[in-house]
Amino acid sequence: MGIFEAIESTEHEQIVFCNNKDAGLKAIIAIHNTVLGPALGGLRMWPYASEQEALDDVLRLSRGMTYKAAVSGLNLGGGKAVIIGDPKKDKSEALFRALGRFVDSLGGRYITAEDVGIDVNDMEFLFQETNNVVGVHQVHGGSGDPSPYTAYGTLQGIKAALQWKLGDQNVGKYSYAVQGAGHVGYYLVKLLRDEGAKVFVTDFNEEAVAQAVELGAEAVGIDEIYDVDADVYAPCALGATVNEETIPRFKFKVVAGAANNQLATEEAGDELAARGILYAPDYAVNAGGLMNVSIEFEGWDKERALRMTRTIYYNLMKIFDIAERDNITSYKAADRMARERIEMIGKLKLPHMGKPHRFPGRERNNGT
Ligand code: NAD
Repeated sequence: MGIFEAIESTEHEQIVFCNNKDAGLKAIIAIHNTVLGPALGGLRMWPYASEQEALDDVLRLSRGMTYKAAVSGLNLGGGKAVIIGDPKKDKSEALFRALGRFVDSLGGRYITAEDVGIDVNDMEFLFQETNNVVGVHQVHGGSGDPSPYTAYGTLQGIKAALQWKLGDQNVGKYSYAVQGAGHVGYYLVKLLRDEGAKVFVTDFNEEAVAQAVELGAEAVGIDEIYDVDADVYAPCALGATVNEETIPRFKFKVVAGAANNQLATEEAGDELAARGILYAPDYAVNAGGLMNVSIEFEGWDKERALRMTRTIYYNLMKIFDIAERDNITSYKAADRMARERIEMIGKLKLPHMGKPHRFPGRERNNGT
């Protein structure tokens, strides 16, 4: 597929190819949609096997950010950036500062943040060249590790799903299968245990499992997690774990977790619905991290971040309402809610707001 064809099929506004030979920079910034606000999305560094692979990734990820911001009620658009390179070998001050200058040249249309392969020290270099960065160090007014907020937001998503599916949101009354006890999973286990819930946990990382067990969770094997008799499956590791092989094993009533791209295919989402398992769409559930960084520009504040994160409950309820209203699955309802919001808010921009016109022609013909 040609580049313009690719951009058109994914409805992107702008793709910026950034090259700086001296700094060894090869990066792509993708701005998907800015109807709701500036495009905000993380910067990923990955040793992509080809330029096409990097382009595909940035197009997919930036589009996802548009939907996540839109369903979350944020006045942000979707964007993402990728650096082609090995984060273990290819990082340098010049590399990040070179990219920072490209980000700055976009005049605030794109705001960058941390993603896979990038840490807060890298963000500091970008921050030397542009203000259009969030997720900087706390000493610069940054919001720090987003994981506790993502976990807290996930808990709100779980509450909404329990309320919708089982008629109450008494978290402690139900049982949970948490896959992955990393940054987000650990905090989620803690929140669930604080409510007195029964929690099963699994992780490749034995230390992570041990920490969750210390909180009172019960460890199960990597593959066993799909078979446990729990009410809620909370994927907090990698994507695509809800698939044709795992679904037939589920005794769960709800799937609600922090991992991105939980459904391996759209059919997996349809199959969950057919079996009466309520799926809380991942990008609405895990938006706490995005909400948390989004308030950095106005001055980050913990209480405000938590308050904002609690709106995830209501966002999920709206998604479930739309699913019922339109008789569609919840994953389709989430996409529809995002598109409806972008369309409606976009229309608000239509009436002219009475600002005086500039007539560039006059300036050109002023005799100079
Ligand atoms: P992390 O790397 O800290 O934790 C993931 C954990 O999952 C690791 O401990 C890893 O060993 C484990 N794991 C991997 N595959 C597994 C498997 N098959 N079975 C069991 N355990 C497995 O990552 P994280 O920051 O906690 O993020 C978890 C998920 O949430 C990811 O999908 C991420 O994209 C998503 N997410 C995270 C944030 C955030 O704020 N960190 C925000 C939005 C979405």
